[in-house]
Amino acid sequence: MVSDMRSYTIAVLAGDGIGPEVMQQADAVLAAVEDRFTLTFERRPADVGGIAIDNHGHALPQQTIDTCREADAVLFGSVGGPRWESLPPDQQPERAALLPLRKTFGLFANLRPAIIFPQLRSASPLKPEVIGEGLDVLVVRELTGGIYFGEPKSRTADRAVDTMVYTRREIERISHVAFQAARKRNGRVTSIDKANVLANGVLWREVVTEVAAGYPDVELGHMYVDNAAMQLVRNPRQFDVILCGNMFGDILSDEASMITGSLGMLPSASLSSSSVGSTAQPVFGLYEPSGGSAPDIAGRDLANPIAQILSLAMLLQYSFGLDEAYEAILNAITSVLDDGWRTADIMSDGCRLVGTADIGSRIAAAVRDR
Ligand code: NAD
Repeated sequence: MVSDMRSYTIAVLAGDGIGPEVMQQADAVLAAVEDRFTLTFERRPADVGGIAIDNHGHALPQQTIDTCREADAVLFGSVGGPRWESLPPDQQPERAALLPLRKTFGLFANLRPAIIFPQLRSASPLKPEVIGEGLDVLVVRELTGGIYFGEPKSRTADRAVDTMVYTRREIERISHVAFQAARKRNGRVTSIDKANVLANGVLWREVVTEVAAGYPDVELGHMYVDNAAMQLVRNPRQFDVILCGNMFGDILSDEASMITGSLGMLPSASLSSSSVGSTAQPVFGLYEPSGGSAPDIAGRDLANPIAQILSLAMLLQYSFGLDEAYEAILNAITSVLDDGWRTADIMSDGCRLVGTADIGSRIAAAVRDR
């Protein structure tokens, strides 16, 4: 039972488009978690993205950075929209807010679960027999190294060079994230590399294997990236945690999320520490839906708030170690889906169509109900 009455501080950056409306539902669910588990969360709202450009002249004002720095974790909505698209690229909300946030807080680990609730199996492009009783795969991607950032980089008219670099330290710290996440899940890590071709992959495999020795309770497997791309659509249920470098993780996390079939259901986390999920010491992280600000449906009570609510659930689990609160939110979503309630993006025959606020309050009520 999580009932130690300690207080946690969360910076709440709702942003633009559907951000504020889905954030409101996450906040209602957080209030339900407070009631059920006798916890207190201090919310500190701050402007980010287009709204921050309008109010402060910059997508990531200093006071927003300060608010995040003083918080234990950041719950982020989404940023951007047509209103700011004519700005120079480096001033646009996504580029000028998210990238500097990742850099400022050293968010090197990106966690993207691909969850298919059994009730939403038909939304997946994969056959129901491949999905089985649902799917829950977590892609852990190294975010700050690898070929996207390695030096030298160069370009002449006829030649272009990118360099894939990983150091032992970088591989170790992301491996710890994957093994610790696996401990909270089904205890399996599949590490992805291209050790048959790349020296970098050989080092990756060696270091991951060394780190695994400290986690005898977690089962480690290795897979070449080309095979992993194939296995993800052939038999995704064989995976629990998939551990990747930056480029392979970029590709495989998109593939994994596409097999879930609905953007409005996908959360993500970016962490700055290897010791995830500790109740003793909060782990700083930024949690956000995988989708964007969806200007086409913003302000119309059409957005699916579940990605934002699952981002909150991940925050409680990975930053604060509140596993029971995570489970309570997951169970609440499952029971609301079981009762047939759906937003438009996940609607199917025989279900009952509701808006953002309605499904959000049903999930909050289900958290309180147990
Ligand atoms: P998008 O993810 O906002 O929307 C793509 C499609 O998915 C749209 O049809 C939208 O209605 C739908 N969708 C997304 N989230 C949904 C939800 N929760 N419920 C129901 N439907 C949902 O991508 P886009 O249209 O390419 O980008 C729109 C804006 O968002 C752009 O300004 C872009 O720069 C920005 N963006 C921000 C982030 C971020 O904040 N991290 C990420 C991606 C895009």
